[in-house]
Amino acid sequence: MQGLMMQQSLLVSALLTHAERHHSEQEIVSRRVEGDVHRYSYRHLAQRARRMANALSTLGVARGERVATLAWNGYRHMELYFSVSGSGSVLHTLNPRLHVDQLAYIIEHAEDRVVFFDLTFLPLIESVAPQVKSPKIFVAMTDRAHMPQTSGMNAMLMCYEDLLDLHDDVFEWPVLDENSASSLCYTSGTTGNPKGVPYSHRSTVLHTYAAALPDSLNCSARDVILPVVPMFHVNAWGLPYVACMVGAKLVFPGPALDGKSLYELIETEHVTLSAGVPTVWQGLLTHVDAMGGTFSSMRRTVIGGAPCPTAMTEAFQQRHQVEVLHAWGMTELSPIGTVCSFKAHQQSLPMAEQYTIQAKQGRALFGIDMRIVGSDGNELPWDGESAGDLQVRGHWVTQQYFGADVESPLCDGWFPTGDIATIDPHGFMQITDRSKDVIKSGGEWISSAAIENVAYLHPEVSMAVCIAARHPKWDERPLLLVVKKPGSDLASDELLSFFNGRVARWWTPDAVVFVDTVPLGATGKVLKNQLRDQFGDYYLPA
Ligand code: ADP
Repeated sequence: MQGLMMQQSLLVSALLTHAERHHSEQEIVSRRVEGDVHRYSYRHLAQRARRMANALSTLGVARGERVATLAWNGYRHMELYFSVSGSGSVLHTLNPRLHVDQLAYIIEHAEDRVVFFDLTFLPLIESVAPQVKSPKIFVAMTDRAHMPQTSGMNAMLMCYEDLLDLHDDVFEWPVLDENSASSLCYTSGTTGNPKGVPYSHRSTVLHTYAAALPDSLNCSARDVILPVVPMFHVNAWGLPYVACMVGAKLVFPGPALDGKSLYELIETEHVTLSAGVPTVWQGLLTHVDAMGGTFSSMRRTVIGGAPCPTAMTEAFQQRHQVEVLHAWGMTELSPIGTVCSFKAHQQSLPMAEQYTIQAKQGRALFGIDMRIVGSDGNELPWDGESAGDLQVRGHWVTQQYFGADVESPLCDGWFPTGDIATIDPHGFMQITDRSKDVIKSGGEWISSAAIENVAYLHPEVSMAVCIAARHPKWDERPLLLVVKKPGSDLASDELLSFFNGRVARWWTPDAVVFVDTVPLGATGKVLKNQLRDQFGDYYLPA
């Protein structure tokens, strides 16, 4: 028997159509670059997305062509998520924290037709525009009253709200091939030139289903979701799509990502779920603790992109009753691969054991399979001890980067993540390092993530980074770089003795260097390669 069930393409536009029909009055709140707070509903979102789809057609953007955004999290960015992808073009989100030359490279490589930008990024656009040939049109995401005065851009500059005013909201979302590209995000290029990862409509919708599930991000129509993770990096971990699928209220922070601004937004909008990288949460916790505040509505927070230190999990869960969902993913995975949520028997474990589990990156979502392999390419056991190269495959894992000049990354049908991990008998994966960050001491691996996790447990440590430093006897030894909390007079001996009994003796770093800051990359992660350049010879004789 065949043809029993309807066949419908899995399309990004269907998420918006669903939200408009079933959750039309649900709110979307945005802090704007213009300085105020904007509110409207999914009904308005859908109407304006259709108007913008008509505008894109007038601008001559064809199916399959790329339309770029350089923007914060906000409602206009959300409208572009659906107007661009829904009409069959490809939404290319640009990361404003990249260097101008890298941005120019990416825009040219993707052959973007139009670039939409938030006013904050006008200076960046003015620097990039003379370096690129492809986009002929730049659109400022604002209204006529806020249109900037600019000179020196040899391309056409248009106004977002003017474009909307010129078009009506009658637009039929086309029935597209579900395997065609809906959006495009470049890796941050910490290891060579950035590579474009195109997501398909199908992969995006399947990722949305999986991300919303109870053991994933656990999202529902009762939630108020604040994506702090940027819409310019891997589609804000899919949360804009998830919110449409489940009909959740959405709160967008705009450019204000400091602890105070985030806390005010969380409280005034009654946010229940948020998501971001550890460095952002550090700022929020510091602010809330300094003012003796509590979270009155927030129940869960997703932490990923870098290891979530146990001290942070404790702070959220014990001090603030906010559950931490530690998640792992990458640009090539749309991005979510694993989420750490307990199995039934783990719920009654002593708290210390639960924290040990929560330091892991968690279990694979249905739709993703994973394995660890040794240097001989053979699969390693799931014993929680054997560490190997983590490989994944599944519905939302890339098999081909954008452009003809890039080779397929797959090995035997698996995507090599570049992470080193263990997997325990219950299927919980734990990243011990990125392969390029691993410390090899006397031929044995030391996990920099484990060392940082211990350092963060010390109450006077604000930031901790462990790197491999060259060593005359052991090839490499761990070196710990620490930013102290304000007012602390912590000494290195005291911090090193803190490791006694917490890690194997030979894992303890040989030295601590106190620094004022650590360099952060375009997605808020520590740039370990820069620190290795600076401190890599620390143990070598001068
Ligand atoms: P890049 O930083 O190279 O641009 P991504 O932003 O795609 O790449 O980040 C993916 C990488 O971030 C993963 O391969 C992994 O090394 C790291 N990562 C993501 N989430 C976690 C996590 N929860 N714990 C540890 N590392 C993580």
